[in-house]
Amino acid sequence: MDPSRPLRRRVAVRTVDALVVGGGPAGAVCARELVCAGLDVIVADQARFPRDKPCGGWVTPQVFSTLGLDPEAYARDHVLQPIHALVTGRLGGRGLLTRYERPVSYGVRRSEFDHFLLRRSGARVHEGYRVRELRRAGDLWIVNGELRAALVVGAGGHYCPVARALGEGTGPEPVVAQEVEFPLDAPTAERCRVEPGVPELYFCRDRKGYGWAFRKDAFLNVGLGRQDARGLGHHVREFVAWLEAGGRIPPGLPRLRGHAYHLYPSARRALVADGAVIVGDAAGLAYAESGEGIRPAVESGLLAARAAVAAGGRFGRERLAPYRDAVEARLGKRGRPRRVPAGLETVANLLAGPLLSSPWFTRRVVLDRWFLRTSQPALA
Ligand SMILES: Cc1cc2nc3c(=O)[nH]c(=O)nc-3n(C[C@H](O)[C@H](O)[C@H](O)COP(=O)(O)OP(=O)(O)OC[C@H]3O[C@@H](n4cnc5c(N)ncnc54)[C@H](O)[C@@H]3O)c2cc1C
Repeated sequence: MDPSRPLRRRVAVRTVDALVVGGGPAGAVCARELVCAGLDVIVADQARFPRDKPCGGWVTPQVFSTLGLDPEAYARDHVLQPIHALVTGRLGGRGLLTRYERPVSYGVRRSEFDHFLLRRSGARVHEGYRVRELRRAGDLWIVNGELRAALVVGAGGHYCPVARALGEGTGPEPVVAQEVEFPLDAPTAERCRVEPGVPELYFCRDRKGYGWAFRKDAFLNVGLGRQDARGLGHHVREFVAWLEAGGRIPPGLPRLRGHAYHLYPSARRALVADGAVIVGDAAGLAYAESGEGIRPAVESGLLAARAAVAAGGRFGRERLAPYRDAVEARLGKRGRPRRVPAGLETVANLLAGPLLSSPWFTRRVVLDRWFLRTSQPALA
């Protein structure tokens, strides 16, 4: 051996049936279904769990049904805040209270919820493992030069390396948002007028998004999302100052963290490729009207896994195409004219007028139809 030549690290290449990149709700649910079907699955996530994810943590009941998860059982060991009422209004204006007789949604802490789903998946998890490079070799993907997989599931959220490797496509700007969640001690909780289980949603006056304040048990979550990245910080500061001045939240909010994601109708991300399916935020699947992304993440993870299992070990693009068809059957075809508004901005536009002070419109259209999607049953 020539001692002057640098030693190259000898990497043991490992082959699995499926590598799921990203252990959020989309990846965890997909992995669980693949494991149940007998596939050898690894979930790789750059984070170590429990990890936080900027999010309101609002979960609709259909998610629990699809997961086959009893909310009461989950609540035994985790924060689960039932939602019985909501306040809606325009930023700077008065809020309208809409009450329901039973819980219409729940609040979770993403650090807990995502950890729970990932453990429940039964897959082997490589935490703190960042996927940097994907290469196609014959019928396999080679990841970081050391993992080989017949199927790669792109579940890495908005910045998913699999979605990037397949080409992101050009499209409108994503929704940008900032959020913070923190525990309230007893004296601070006394000075918080946002009630547990009664989220407050306020639409921006310039009609490009909305902010929220949401109390889950002893935790307060505050954030704001917009379809226009310009001046996001300014809008967030204005919103927080307004909430504080009105005594809705206690002063001295911790620093908010930002994130981005695409809404389904305007996203241009691929759903399938040879040996690959893209799920959740990586595919840009969030609902246009509300920005809800956990339900489409869970549903797409399940649908992708079902299509992969049905493909019987041969994962060519055509054999995975039923996944794309199933997503389109639930969310509609991209690029088609829609009967409902196409994004947060359009919703905020509609709501800027007198409609938002109409109790009927707020309950039946804004909440039941757009935010709770009561007319769309859970994915079985
Ligand atoms: C501020 C904000 C508030 C929101 N509020 C709500 C809400 O209240 N309700 C709701 O339903 N939706 C909400 N959403 C949307 C929701 O958070 C997302 O749609 C949802 O998290 C998507 O899940 P996912 O599994 O696709 O991706 P994620 O939850 O983002 O998970 C992706 C995972 O991939 C990992 N990853 C990324 N890159 C790599 C890499 N290179 N290598 C390895 N791992 C990687 C990450 O560490 C992460 O764990 C909100 C979004 C934002 C930004």
